[in-house]
Amino acid sequence: MNSEEYWNPILETLPREKLEQLQLKKFKEIFSWAYEHSKFYHKLYHDAGIEPGDIRTFDDIHKVPKTEKAMLRDIQGEGKEPFPYGDILSVPLEQVTEYHQTSGTTGQPVYQADTWQDWDFHAESFAYALYAQGYRDTDRLFLPFGYNIFIAFWGAHYAAEKLGCEVIPGGVLNTEARILKMQELKATAMGATPTYVLGMAETARKIGIDPPKDLFIRKITVAGEPGGSIPATRKRMEDAWGAKVFDQSGSTEIGHWGLECRYQAGLHVNEAFFLVEIEDVDTGKIINESGKKGKMVVTTFNRMAQPCIRFDVKDLIQWNARQCDCGRTFRLLDGGIMGRADDITKVKGVLLSPTAIEEVVRDIPQLSNEYQVVVTKKGDIDDITLKVEVIPEYKNDEAAIRTKLVDQLRVKTNLGYNIEFHEYESLPRSQTKSRRFQDLRPH
Ligand SMILES: [Zn+2]
Repeated sequence: MNSEEYWNPILETLPREKLEQLQLKKFKEIFSWAYEHSKFYHKLYHDAGIEPGDIRTFDDIHKVPKTEKAMLRDIQGEGKEPFPYGDILSVPLEQVTEYHQTSGTTGQPVYQADTWQDWDFHAESFAYALYAQGYRDTDRLFLPFGYNIFIAFWGAHYAAEKLGCEVIPGGVLNTEARILKMQELKATAMGATPTYVLGMAETARKIGIDPPKDLFIRKITVAGEPGGSIPATRKRMEDAWGAKVFDQSGSTEIGHWGLECRYQAGLHVNEAFFLVEIEDVDTGKIINESGKKGKMVVTTFNRMAQPCIRFDVKDLIQWNARQCDCGRTFRLLDGGIMGRADDITKVKGVLLSPTAIEEVVRDIPQLSNEYQVVVTKKGDIDDITLKVEVIPEYKNDEAAIRTKLVDQLRVKTNLGYNIEFHEYESLPRSQTKSRRFQDLRPH
């Protein structure tokens, strides 16, 4: 396969007006498909009094009812046909070739079906991201990822193959063995969560390997956590590896919708394959101006088995008005995913932004990469504790670090925190998505 195909100047540089025409056409197609082939969507739209003929202009899209995770949980699982996907399924069960599920810690996961064509679409959309980040057929990509039922880096694996890269599945190995294998094979690129990218660098140094000097990794694609779009975290990763770090965004139910290009100017939305709308949390109005935070609502155009139409992700994002130097007209998000829109992150009535806490912690070089935020209730009042680790050689600076943390957190999040210092390397480390935010308030 010729990897030049993944820079698609026709799709990626369309003027906005043309892009919206394309998106309207594709929205109509997936809407009609779901209306006709999925009992779940048919009922949803029928009850709302809307049918395919009603979508005529781009603004008509905003009238289509939204979907969300809780609706999918209700129609899936034991006793729901076709098992386990439920009647959102829009193809005969025999056509499903891929199974994945969401990785939420509580409740029933969302079961996700894909046909072989859907799966190819995943690879295709991820390939756009890798190509934009400079991956070519000369790259040897190492994936230190536990290949399992979670979608995570499966898309990257197939995408890199499409580009003609050589893919090393670094699945059932421990961290040390993965590092040694990367070194032995002179891997040039890797994909992992930000937490694991930082953890691997720590492990490497412990076994006497200095990643920038002793390894050959020069491109790292991160996903699964917001770190790639947090400047202080990105800098830590780039310094630790001597590599360029690029953010990428996607999810089980949606697909790989967000890509950062070589210019690292923010997360581009792949608008040829996805429609991303930003909705005002309070008024429900669509936000088109830059710098205004709202909820992300996404439609995936090319996924047929289990369509994703106006899916309310409940993540907070905002547009960036900048034109990227790469020439893509795909819109940019400022700072990637900025937090959650639901109540779980409301503390003392203020929307807590986990990415703002991360930015503060990772910007203090005397602190390790790990931290934890615990929210409890003291009487009627929410109480937040931030647990951090000081790197042993800076043990004497604790008082100054505490003052800096409290001041910076007050500025960036408008909240007060208890600061707890923990032994270096005593906070839990994770190989996948980290759970750094613990809400222990009674519900
Ligand atoms: Zn760009």
